[in-house]
Amino acid sequence: MPVKPAKKFTSKRLSASSKAYLNRQAADSFVQAARAQGYRARSAFKLQEIDQKHKLFRHGQTVVDLGAAPGSWCQVAAEKVGPTHKGGGRIVGIDLLEIPPLAGITFIEADFTSDEGLGQLLPHVQPEGVDVVMSDMAANTTGHHATDGLRTMALAELAADFALTHLKPGGHFLTKVFMNGDEAKLRDTLRPHFTKVMFVKPGASRAESREIFLLALNKKA
Ligand code: SAM
Repeated sequence: MPVKPAKKFTSKRLSASSKAYLNRQAADSFVQAARAQGYRARSAFKLQEIDQKHKLFRHGQTVVDLGAAPGSWCQVAAEKVGPTHKGGGRIVGIDLLEIPPLAGITFIEADFTSDEGLGQLLPHVQPEGVDVVMSDMAANTTGHHATDGLRTMALAELAADFALTHLKPGGHFLTKVFMNGDEAKLRDTLRPHFTKVMFVKPGASRAESREIFLLALNKKA
């Protein structure tokens, strides 16, 4: 079926940057595909591509999604891991924002970096441990690239601490970082603990964005 040309946002009540964002979203083929396939966000395709290439998920696993709203990474994981109510694994997502429910997936509305947030998450992962920890957490942008990069890197470092503590042997860790010169340090911290550590830039990650993903495969025992 031919795809209808995207409607243009021209309202005078929108700022130029909001109009540019809305028009870019409307014309974006990943946004259209997400809508057509029932994913809550275009970022679903980033995780799908990484999983297709590196085989992160298997049926019955326990997966923790840090910064899970609106839930598209959980949707992708659930397709492979299988939601709990269908005899599958366990998926737990945490975010500052409320996430509309998805069957068989546990969502926690809390700050992952707070004792309270961690306290809510831990009962879902202990004592068995986790097979995949994934973090797409991004700090609220200030518009200042260096500050935004540093704040998101701090979140990635906390996600890495969590993964190193709670991943089972053989488990995988995936996190978003922004390229700002510090990303190699986190890669080097992870290297001794995993069989393979690499940066990946999936096709759905906008080429002009400094976003890149750090992937650590097969945690050593
Ligand atoms: N992977 C998600 C998906 O596909 O639906 C999109 C995640 S979005 C890019 C980043 C999320 O990180 C935001 O929803 C934001 O609220 C969340 N976040 C940022 N800091 C956080 C924190 N300290 N604790 C929990 N979530 C956080």
